[in-house]
Amino acid sequence: MYLKNKKAIVTGATRGIGKAIAVAFVKSGVDVAVFATNQDRLNQMQKELEDIKVDPNQRIITKKVDVSKYLEVEKACLDVITEFSHVDILVNNAGITKDALLMRMSEEDFDRVIDINLKSVYNTCKVLVRSMMKNKKSKIINISSIVGIMGNPGQTNYAASKAGVIGFTKSLAKEVASRNINVNAIAPGFIETEMTQSIPEKIQEQMLKNIPLKRFGKSEDIANMVLFLASDESDYITGQVFTVDGGMGM
Ligand code: NAD
Repeated sequence: MYLKNKKAIVTGATRGIGKAIAVAFVKSGVDVAVFATNQDRLNQMQKELEDIKVDPNQRIITKKVDVSKYLEVEKACLDVITEFSHVDILVNNAGITKDALLMRMSEEDFDRVIDINLKSVYNTCKVLVRSMMKNKKSKIINISSIVGIMGNPGQTNYAASKAGVIGFTKSLAKEVASRNINVNAIAPGFIETEMTQSIPEKIQEQMLKNIPLKRFGKSEDIANMVLFLASDESDYITGQVFTVDGGMGM
């Protein structure tokens, strides 16, 4: 898929799914800006991405940004627009879990998950959409979750945030379609990352039984779908949710 010279922002891209997306973009010749919160990991990412560049002129930017904070996001996005001249692709990937049954879930943990998983999508889109309207075409890809479609005990906060991302995606897709901005969501199933590492082995075994393809997903499985949705090959697709889950949600 031809993505050379496109300019992308990927949030939460210092590990897991976001890192796989940033790596896939860099290998495709995209100029990439990575937003995340851990400075050491950002420094490491800068080095790793510089090492796999396919063109010496390709640009990599890493920025320490808490995506739940509007003013931080605004400054970082405007800096990237200044450095890249524009942004063609936005991938809202940053996300957290703070699991507990509702009876035990604190208000703080509910709010934090909504702020990082859902409010962040408002923040980045609000800042970038105006400038994206000036491009010939742009792509916004939001990482939701199968849990936002199916629900999951212990994850009322997370499921609400990810279902919110789906509603946001469809609404924004309708708002900006006439400006040639495609907005789609991906709903991953169980993907092997640091986020899922902490799930007890017994529960993991149970989950595996519900996956027809009989394996957990890899971050690259999601990155492949992102590459497609970022490319010209997906120009006639907007407002959709793509489950990448080994058949788990069937
Ligand atoms: P991860 O925990 O490995 O990585 C999350 C990334 O988000 C990290 O780089 C972290 O630094 C960043 N992040 C967290 N809070 C942030 C903040 N306030 N500002 C900026 N960056 C922040 O998780 P992952 O498994 O790679 O998940 C990536 C996305 O995919 C998340 O949105 C997650 O909800 C979603 N997802 C994951 C799975 C899975 O099984 N792993 C399934 C469905 C959806």
